[in-house]
Amino acid sequence: MTEIKKFTTYFVNGYIVKDDKTIMFDTGALFEPEQLPGVLDELGVSAEDIEYIVISHAHYDHCMLAKAWKEMTGAKIICHEKTAEALRDGNAQGRFQYGPKCYDYDKAYYNFMEETTPPTIPTVEPDIVFGDEGLDMHPYGINGKIIHTPGHDDSHIALVLDNRTALTGDSVYDLHDVGCFTEDPRFPEGSYSLNWICTDEELLKDSVRKILEGADIFYGGHGAPMSRDVVEPLVK
Ligand SMILES: [Zn+2]
Repeated sequence: MTEIKKFTTYFVNGYIVKDDKTIMFDTGALFEPEQLPGVLDELGVSAEDIEYIVISHAHYDHCMLAKAWKEMTGAKIICHEKTAEALRDGNAQGRFQYGPKCYDYDKAYYNFMEETTPPTIPTVEPDIVFGDEGLDMHPYGINGKIIHTPGHDDSHIALVLDNRTALTGDSVYDLHDVGCFTEDPRFPEGSYSLNWICTDEELLKDSVRKILEGADIFYGGHGAPMSRDVVEPLVK
């Protein structure tokens, strides 16, 4: 049985997925390397058990601790070729493409994203790089597959598990839990959105439909898990 454990660094989620093998999905952000052992202690996971680190997309809040986690665990990094470029060049700024909604509400979201983005992230060479065809994860001890889900960003992927659970990064997220709206009554918990950051809204919707074909429960990069009944209406 696949087991999923969530950890949160500020406003960003990462996950430990345990199957025949154990992997990390997304790295969290803005923590110092010294803080990472405590993250695993709290989950009851030992560093040496983590064999792979899978990254959902090239935005800093999901990949900036890849180097630190790799050094601590010895795990191999698995990512899309466009995320690999980001890990090699280390440039974190200018990677967000904002959808029209983010400019409303006094630009709070835009400002928050720009202010929290560090100029650079620690560079690291990924170990297993794939393209838009995705990656079957069974050979890596995980009962599931990685599918390419562009729209939020060209590099974006989801891990769709055979038990109809998906780790979806930022394809869908809870605005309340992104960070800048936590106290804002206009964005209560469960104010789910697709298109605050997107390269193409229709492409993003297609990607989410693709995830819905294989999953009914969605673990996102920000906020609590979501069920089909909140995600499906967003792509109707
Ligand atoms: Zn994010």
